[in-house]
Amino acid sequence: MPFSERVLLPNLRKVTPVKRMYPPWTTITEASQIIREGGIVAIPTETVYGLAANALNALAVAKIFAAKERPTFDPLIVHIASASNLPEAAESIPENAWILAEKFMPGPLTLVLPKRKKIPDLVTSSLPTVGIRVPDHPIAREIIREAGVPLAAPSANLFQRVSPTTALHVAEQLGERIDGIVDGGQSRIGLESTIIAFPEGKNPLLLRPGAITLEMLRETIGDIDVNMSSSEPGKALPAPGMVDKHYQPATPLYYGAVPETATLPPKTLHLAFGKISEDERFTKTLNLSADGNLLEATANLYSFIRKLDRLGGDLIVVDPVPENGIGMAVNDRLKRASLKYFPEPNATERR
Ligand code: AMP
Ligand code: MG
Repeated sequence: MPFSERVLLPNLRKVTPVKRMYPPWTTITEASQIIREGGIVAIPTETVYGLAANALNALAVAKIFAAKERPTFDPLIVHIASASNLPEAAESIPENAWILAEKFMPGPLTLVLPKRKKIPDLVTSSLPTVGIRVPDHPIAREIIREAGVPLAAPSANLFQRVSPTTALHVAEQLGERIDGIVDGGQSRIGLESTIIAFPEGKNPLLLRPGAITLEMLRETIGDIDVNMSSSEPGKALPAPGMVDKHYQPATPLYYGAVPETATLPPKTLHLAFGKISEDERFTKTLNLSADGNLLEATANLYSFIRKLDRLGGDLIVVDPVPENGIGMAVNDRLKRASLKYFPEPNATERR
């Protein structure tokens, strides 16, 4: 039975794993063929690695949700080879969407547009809209062209976990559950795409910040509203269940000012940003960018979180990152990865 079909079985966690001797490394041509035949393959993009299937084949798309253990209310982004193919997936395209497409595609920008009927409801979680992106990575675009179909592809990680920025990250989490992995080196940007929607009769709406920044978007099309639901660390939630859990390592992570009276647990790890001085309270420090360069910090973010996570500490503490430019997107991800309160002594428990 192909690996990706095993994951469609009920009670995935109970299926006896068949150990592979090595991850399913795949060439561009093999990957395209697997996708045409209804399989799922992890592919490199400039944002993060994606787990790709033929977006027009609902059964293939179901394998993505199963492999990731992702709930089907969380829609997938459809990847196409060129902005000129937008009308094949989108029923209509507002003027502002075309302007952004011309300026930022290929690139880390997803446009949410009314969907064509041929895009299965499973891809869009039954929404009447579909998120569409043109990746700026030669391998991703070559696979789309060779497969000859649009690709539905979320990040190639387990649901709510840290997104992969190398092929090895994918292999560690999903190597046993998918049909192939194409290694295209480290993702250049390292953070998921910016997502923008175009509600009728209203301003365009930023749904997720990314490397195409709010400033860049506003400069291009004017007013944009912002809709981000992440709760602030250290602040009470407006209602239970509103925590936006996402991008989480197994080690509890705290992003926010550490209270002065707080006792740090014995093995506290430190993710720093900018100039820092030696601090013996931390077992290990990794610096996202000693020069305070936000693009460097973004590219390092997920792989450094993974590196610290592997050390099996009690807590990861993250320095504040400025909110300007791509910093808004980094802040968004870190807030979602963070505990909402600084933990009480002895209260840290791996997730
Ligand atoms: P991922 O590829 O794992 O980063 O997840 C894709 C994300 O894109 C989803 O979690 C949604 O937030 C967003 N998305 C995709 N399609 C739509 C849509 N039609 N409307 C709104 N958001 C969408
Ligand atoms: Mg994701």
